[in-house]
Amino acid sequence: MNTSASHDPNCIFCKIIAGQIPSKKVCEDEQVYAFHDINPWAPVHFMLVPKAHISSMAQLGQEHAALMGHIMTLAPRLALEQGCNPYPDGGFRVVVNTGAEGGQEVQHLHVHVMGGPRPWAKG
Ligand code: AMP
Ligand code: ZN
Repeated sequence: MNTSASHDPNCIFCKIIAGQIPSKKVCEDEQVYAFHDINPWAPVHFMLVPKAHISSMAQLGQEHAALMGHIMTLAPRLALEQGCNPYPDGGFRVVVNTGAEGGQEVQHLHVHVMGGPRPWAKG
């Protein structure tokens, strides 16, 4: 996948990935960028985003299966690294808001990972 061709210059998460807007980075590889949510709902709250600009989960096709598999398998490892307590007494929540009715505010696919001791600010 050519990620540079799928960069949207008007997208806030593309700007974060490009380093044009600061972020608190969790990790990065060729395909994925992970960073802390600026307005956390839980003691641990970060997001995993594909470096390629994909507007939402609604745009996913079979060609994205490996990318999404990579993101979903990174999530549990990063959750523990970021301070979520181990399963089953700890755990974490994964949320992908999609579209207006799905509560999506930023139109670049992102996988929220939230965890840590209760209570949380939301959810
Ligand atoms: P959603 O409602 O699923 O589209 O979530 C978008 C998330 O992006 C919200 O939880 C925001 O707090 C978060 N967010 C927006 N701008 C930034 C930013 N500059 N850095 C980190 N997180 C951000
Ligand atoms: Zn983008």
